[in-house]
Amino acid sequence: MRGEWGTWSEIGNGMALFRSPGSPLPPSLRLRRLLNPSRSKLSFRFPTTMASSSSASASEHAESMPVSAKLFHVPALNAHEMEQIADKTMDRYSRSNDAKRKGRGTVIVWFRNDLRVLDNEVLFQAWSSSELVLPVYCLDPRHFAATHYFGFPKTGALRAQFLIECLEDLKRNLVKRGLDLLIRRGKPEEILPSIAETFGAHTVYAQKETCSEELGVERRVRKGLWLVALPSVSTSIELSGAGPSIDAKPQQASGTSSKKGPRLHLIWGSTMYHIDDLPFRTDHLPDVYTQFRKPVESKCRVRDCIKAPKYLGPAPSTNDWGCVPTLKQLGLSLVQVKLGMKFSGGENAALSRVYEYFWKKDLLSTYKKTRNGMVGADYSTKFSPWLASGCLSPRLLCKEVKRYEKERVANDSTYWVLFELIWRDYFRFLSIKYGNSIFHLGGPRKVKSSWSQDEKLFDCWKDGRTGYPLIDANMKELSTTGFMSNRGRQIVCSFLVRDMGLDWRMGAEWFETCLLDYDPCSNYGNWTYGAGVGNDPREDRYFSIPKQAQTYDPEGEYVAFWLPQLRVLPRDKRHFPGRSYIQQILPLKFGSVPGQHGTQAISSDRQRKSRR
Ligand SMILES: Cc1cc2nc3c(=O)[nH]c(=O)nc-3n(C[C@H](O)[C@H](O)[C@H](O)COP(=O)(O)OP(=O)(O)OC[C@H]3O[C@@H](n4cnc5c(N)ncnc54)[C@H](O)[C@@H]3O)c2cc1C
Repeated sequence: MRGEWGTWSEIGNGMALFRSPGSPLPPSLRLRRLLNPSRSKLSFRFPTTMASSSSASASEHAESMPVSAKLFHVPALNAHEMEQIADKTMDRYSRSNDAKRKGRGTVIVWFRNDLRVLDNEVLFQAWSSSELVLPVYCLDPRHFAATHYFGFPKTGALRAQFLIECLEDLKRNLVKRGLDLLIRRGKPEEILPSIAETFGAHTVYAQKETCSEELGVERRVRKGLWLVALPSVSTSIELSGAGPSIDAKPQQASGTSSKKGPRLHLIWGSTMYHIDDLPFRTDHLPDVYTQFRKPVESKCRVRDCIKAPKYLGPAPSTNDWGCVPTLKQLGLSLVQVKLGMKFSGGENAALSRVYEYFWKKDLLSTYKKTRNGMVGADYSTKFSPWLASGCLSPRLLCKEVKRYEKERVANDSTYWVLFELIWRDYFRFLSIKYGNSIFHLGGPRKVKSSWSQDEKLFDCWKDGRTGYPLIDANMKELSTTGFMSNRGRQIVCSFLVRDMGLDWRMGAEWFETCLLDYDPCSNYGNWTYGAGVGNDPREDRYFSIPKQAQTYDPEGEYVAFWLPQLRVLPRDKRHFPGRSYIQQILPLKFGSVPGQHGTQAISSDRQRKSRR
């Protein structure tokens, strides 16, 4: 029933029950949810087109605005410019052909969330320990299924489109270096053993992941590979650089014949600071960010980038490299982004955005002052979609910041980008320490409290129909573009959790569907913080909408951009439009909103203090 505006709710025995939108839950389900709220699995209405009906009015609005005001390409460069910039950066971070290959036979590079050529240790180690590298990408159907608790699409159409662009770009860049990208649809644990057998590959190299779904796939791939009978192959495998914590079963190196199947060699690669360089074990990670950041900054060094060889070929021979899929083949359809930010996927676009933000526009030098903005593309770096898909290495970003500091200016702003990237590292390492608890209702601290799963309230939040312009504008931006500012994310998270009292996982899963930059560690890490169930008990915040509106959108420019009906109002009325806008779905928990129907509530001292 994907794509239809009806609601399927699963009930215990696996049967599906159709309900018309807005009708109450059936008694059996209501009872089950009441008894066991954390386990109930619901499916909500969702469109397969992500620029959905909720954004229809915004798109219509786009028609009546000047072109320059409605769409921001990120980066704002054409394909030719992007290629030129990427080529230049690739030159800087590639090695002149002095590296020697030390291995034998064929190896596979299984691309996961590391869709790049530069500073890709997986690709480099695979190349240097073989004679032939076969790059493979598996389109795992599970990535296009439903989210865990609430049955939203696991990958919305906008992120799927971004992924398609990343794959096209990766394929082009690999071809330029003498390789290609083999693309298959199916589960990696089925595809990789079969390809390894066909090509006689002795090792599969891949980037290590940290969350349970990805770890499960790693386990099954390893098992599948062990069952493959390889002909006797002489391998001379270089194991340098892979920490023992990562590779569970390192095989003896040097020229032995392989009786067991090919092995899986996992390499750390997603963070700015390498896991092996941390001054503490991940199970002893401090629970307070500052207590993590300070020792890391003072005791660790960000490693140098792995310079990519200019020529990685030859590629193994095959007539069937497979194709980058279309959205339709993935069962999705896209409405063009016409308003807000339109991101381009791929490493070339990522490197071009770095060039644009740092070198062309000098925005790095003012980042700290602008980073809480919401309008346009340039208030913050917008690196996150490329970081999440691995088109961009955080280490390369660090090197570029250092180069900028040397060649232009070093100030609070240049440092602050690194400060934020350390947050990203922190959430990644926390996912190792806390495992699956980051996905659970009580979070890492196993907090017990009662949450509602009111579907009607949730739909108003998700579709941007709460009656609070700041919430509605942000939610419309999310469904229209796949992006929301950091400020916006904190505000809508606080509203869902504190004002609506809804189960935070509903919000987190909706973000999982929509965000171009979705990353399980950053997403669930931030949501657990926002919901007050994260590892740090002090991170328990209420974001007051009137205060946030006044501070971050005083002219109502942002809300008017996304909610056309507010444009006609005087600027000081746009956040508090009274009867000129839809009625508020519920009163705010703390404080009243000017011009509305006298919503007032009383807050405790503790809550008052944590208000922002
Ligand atoms: C509820 C919630 C959910 C979030 N979900 C995600 C997610 O799924 N994926 C994701 O990448 N970020 C997530 N974030 C963090 C943050 O909002 C985005 O990284 C940021 O808005 C991306 O925009 P930018 O690249 O312009 O960031 P900038 O402000 O330019 O920061 C530079 C980089 O630092 C990192 N960073 C900044 N803030 C954070 C943070 N709070 N946590 C982790 N990394 C950070 C990002 O990689 C970002 O690209 C979430 C935040 C909240 C409050």
